[in-house]
Amino acid sequence: MTQPFEPSHCPYEDCESHRTRTFEYSCFGRYRRKCDGRHIPRFNCHSCLRTFSTQTFRVDYRLKKPRLTEPIFNGLISKVSLRKLAEALKVRRPTIERRLSLYGDHCRLYHAQKSLKQRQSGELCEGTWVFDELETFEHNRRFKPLSVAAVVHHDSFFIAGLAVGKMPARMAVNEARRKERDAIVEAEGRRPSESKRVVTEALSWLAPDASESYLRGVPGGHLRSDFKTGYRSIARTVLPNHALHQTSSKDKRGPSNPLFAINHGFAMMRDTISRLVRRSWCASKLQERLSQHLWIWACFRNYVRDWKRTERDITSAEWHHICPRQTIKRLLQWRIFEWRKTGVPEGS
Ligand SMILES: [Zn+2]
Repeated sequence: MTQPFEPSHCPYEDCESHRTRTFEYSCFGRYRRKCDGRHIPRFNCHSCLRTFSTQTFRVDYRLKKPRLTEPIFNGLISKVSLRKLAEALKVRRPTIERRLSLYGDHCRLYHAQKSLKQRQSGELCEGTWVFDELETFEHNRRFKPLSVAAVVHHDSFFIAGLAVGKMPARMAVNEARRKERDAIVEAEGRRPSESKRVVTEALSWLAPDASESYLRGVPGGHLRSDFKTGYRSIARTVLPNHALHQTSSKDKRGPSNPLFAINHGFAMMRDTISRLVRRSWCASKLQERLSQHLWIWACFRNYVRDWKRTERDITSAEWHHICPRQTIKRLLQWRIFEWRKTGVPEGS
């Protein structure tokens, strides 16, 4: 029999009991959920006197079709375009887009919270980590490129950090292209290179505190990357106790390549995430959606999928003793409240 649900805090952000550990509430009856007829218990917060239910704490809070959670998540990690997924599930495309945003934001916080202990203690950054950037685009391949930075563990393939940023437009090869580029610059401004920012952000997932005293205590390890200018100084700033080994990205690809973990990770992303497939209509239209889609895939890769398809015993997260294997249902069950990702309420 399952344990009855006990709320640990008030779900309303403006309530003084939202972030406290001592929370007083009373039961307040129950209501019948329209979509499936289930009876959901209600509660009453003693601080703000508002009512809420178990549903308020769930990821599918206020969703009209919670039964579509798993089919939509599965579609998003199976190279299906948003339009085709909507057609297959007989819903409108904006429904799929809203779910993509919801699950993407949730998965980012989920990863932050689940891996928090290992990241804060420095346990996670031990061993060899490989980082690199993948190039893609939003709307226009030539003039609106994007960079995706990722940090992957060499042995477990655990994805520790991801970040997406803008890249400057490419050269215009003829007059027509020049006009096209100028129109984009006029409408949206000149695109900066955020390569340094995204690589720093992705690596910072391994060392969540940038203070000098914290970084001094972080255990040493190894980092691998290609020879791109700037990587050495970023690595020295973010993880000063790690030794950086740089190898040519032109070396023969395959398991013997020192950058295999990240090359394989990027290849899997291209094969799994519809918007990264080359020469297709699915390409990203918005940078934010790409980031959300990547976090969905990263959580599936880390917490649900087998570490290797040929070794179906553990997940990448289990390899690092983070948590037992999750199912898609469990991954998308409870909302992660933003303040909780730090592990302790603010000010306590
Ligand atoms: Zn309250």
